[in-house]
Amino acid sequence: VRRCASPKEVEQCFHHLVSIRNDLEYEIDGMVVKVDSFELQNRLGTTTRAPRWAVAWKFPATQVRTTIEDVEFQVGRTGAVTPVAVLAPVNVNGVTVRRATLHNQDEIERKGLRIGDTVLIQRAGDVIPEVVKPVIEARDGNELPIVFPRNCPECDHRLVRPGNEAVTRCPNPHCPAQRLRSLIYFAGRDGMDIEGLGRKNMEQLVREGLISDVPDIFRLRTGDLAELEGWGKKSAENTVKAIMDVRRTTLARLVRALGIRYIGEVNAGILAARYPDLEALMSASAEDLMELEGIGRQAATSLEEYFKDPSVQEMIRELLAAGVEIVPVARGEKLLAGRVFLFTGALSGMSRNEAKQRVKALGGQVVSAVSGRVTDLVAGEKPGSKIKKAEELGIRILNEEEFNRLLDQEEVA
Ligand SMILES: [Zn+2]
Repeated sequence: VRRCASPKEVEQCFHHLVSIRNDLEYEIDGMVVKVDSFELQNRLGTTTRAPRWAVAWKFPATQVRTTIEDVEFQVGRTGAVTPVAVLAPVNVNGVTVRRATLHNQDEIERKGLRIGDTVLIQRAGDVIPEVVKPVIEARDGNELPIVFPRNCPECDHRLVRPGNEAVTRCPNPHCPAQRLRSLIYFAGRDGMDIEGLGRKNMEQLVREGLISDVPDIFRLRTGDLAELEGWGKKSAENTVKAIMDVRRTTLARLVRALGIRYIGEVNAGILAARYPDLEALMSASAEDLMELEGIGRQAATSLEEYFKDPSVQEMIRELLAAGVEIVPVARGEKLLAGRVFLFTGALSGMSRNEAKQRVKALGGQVVSAVSGRVTDLVAGEKPGSKIKKAEELGIRILNEEEFNRLLDQEEVA
């Protein structure tokens, strides 16, 4: 900190810092000028974003010459494909720079860059270095044009570039580059909301090779998880149970969890209200979809392309084969139709009679003895011997919370 008596002194200070900048042991990208009188500070006040009595004065970016040896294309976690220049290593403010972002296709064209070009690069502050411009005079005729790939370097899916966007992207949500991200989203709160499968655990399971795509989630076994570092039997059991619990789901929830571009909660709800099942939705054309109130061209096209993709179709088939089931909740249709319920133990939130009425109102049947017909056993407090028999028969067992959630689904959809 240095106290300056005049703007002139502030300026001198700035030039001094610029001159010693490269000799410092740490990196700086500028300085902050503050008014040190509280009275003046009060008079100056603040804007909505920052005080008016403190301003940053950034150093000009240092520009250095090097050559572009090659261009690589990186697929980010959102599918955006970014061209990255591989540079002849060069020192910029004490840091060796080997790569620089070229941002996107438009930037490459605007700057007229070629492979083999001598270029000026700069690091402004501590952001990623960027290529400023080619040094045209240095060209010898051997420079090559930078050709954007047509297909994804990670998964070979055809890349897309919507007309109004600068970004080229891989639209395949199951592209390896995006897979982890889509898996985290799928299991996360905005997706299927599977307890025990948050970001960290998902990263671990992908790293360990237990999950590579969405259907693998539904094939996880307690034994596989229990052996992993930091898990143990109990948390493995709980997680597998949480996964089992979400297998029966609504179309809206599943479509939303798939993380299809432009299809969020609202659009997923609109689609589910119109299409009776996944199959119908998958075969809908963009034109059909756009007839729905609230579904625009972007969303419709995105959805059509998604479901047309053979790798997506295969993934959906596997998902259904792994036990994922869409519960129809279309108007007039009963949520629990075809299911046979049996109760044991006391429910804390409602009487047995009330519970039976609710099940019947949703189209389910209620019986009083364990048999092969029973699909769901609702176990309240102090369950009787029925639970053991049900377990033997492989009947789904719901605790009170899960039962309530099931009843609530109708409102959700
Ligand atoms: Zn890809």
